[in-house]
Amino acid sequence: MFKYKEVFTRINKSLAEHNNPGKVASYIPELGNVDPDKFGVHLTKINGEDFSCGDSNEKFSIQSIAKVLSLTMAYKLENEKLWKRVGVEPSGTPFNSLVLLEHNKGIPRNPLINAGALVICDVLISRLENPKEELLEFVREISGFNHIDFNPIVVASEKSMGFRNAAVINLMKSFGNIENKIDDVLDFYFNLCSIEMTCKELSHTFLYLANDGVSPNTKKRIVSVSKSKRINAIMQLCGFYDEAGEFSFKVGLPGKSGVGGGIVAIHPNHYSIVVWSPKLNPKGNSWKGMKFLERFTTETELSIF
Ligand code: GLN
Repeated sequence: MFKYKEVFTRINKSLAEHNNPGKVASYIPELGNVDPDKFGVHLTKINGEDFSCGDSNEKFSIQSIAKVLSLTMAYKLENEKLWKRVGVEPSGTPFNSLVLLEHNKGIPRNPLINAGALVICDVLISRLENPKEELLEFVREISGFNHIDFNPIVVASEKSMGFRNAAVINLMKSFGNIENKIDDVLDFYFNLCSIEMTCKELSHTFLYLANDGVSPNTKKRIVSVSKSKRINAIMQLCGFYDEAGEFSFKVGLPGKSGVGGGIVAIHPNHYSIVVWSPKLNPKGNSWKGMKFLERFTTETELSIF
């Protein structure tokens, strides 16, 4: 039995000796106001045991990590039909890239790059009566925390600079892969990305993917065993954009990053873990978060490969 807290403290200490070359995301101006030296980690085992270290009870912007939650909702509603509008292949390109979209006639490579997440938002707007409210309800239910919310300041901040996402969605609309109004889809997408959680809340939220689709918090089935497997597979191959191979190689777990500096990783049938450190590497993934998880799975040998 591991003394996780001791392992966390030891790895954190040894990483603190290195100069962190990362930079806080500033293309969303509000994210640039975060203290760059924050660091938190939280691990939850599927039996409900919690282990944490550092600023693990401080809220941060989960950004693209939320794409997994919207994907889960849309996959439940659409089943395999979903894959007519979005692929399941790694993109090998940055999260906000336009390059492959024209080539693939407006069909995004996968649901975790911005283009794919925007299509998923379009699906949810078409299918749900009150998309934002129902999304929040869903997230609150699976996390077991009723106060989880959007951050309207982050939404406004991202809207003010959302030119790249506007380009991506306009290109997809021109190919007929967006049903709703562009502004409505962007608004929903920016709200999705603005959700704030602590490391602990996020770790609890993602536990259903470590537990064959059943949330250990509520004992409720969130998705089928097959869908849980497939969402994990997509995270493994696409969760870190053009650094997905690197994360897989070094950490050996399915995971998802966000430009708020958070990373969630899943060890199916064992645990979910969340690391938060706002300084990002050039690929938009947390510099320290990646290094921390690499050391963690190497030291504990708790990874899937
Ligand atoms: N909201 C961010 C964007 O669209 C999400 C990017 C991310 O976290 N990788 O640019």
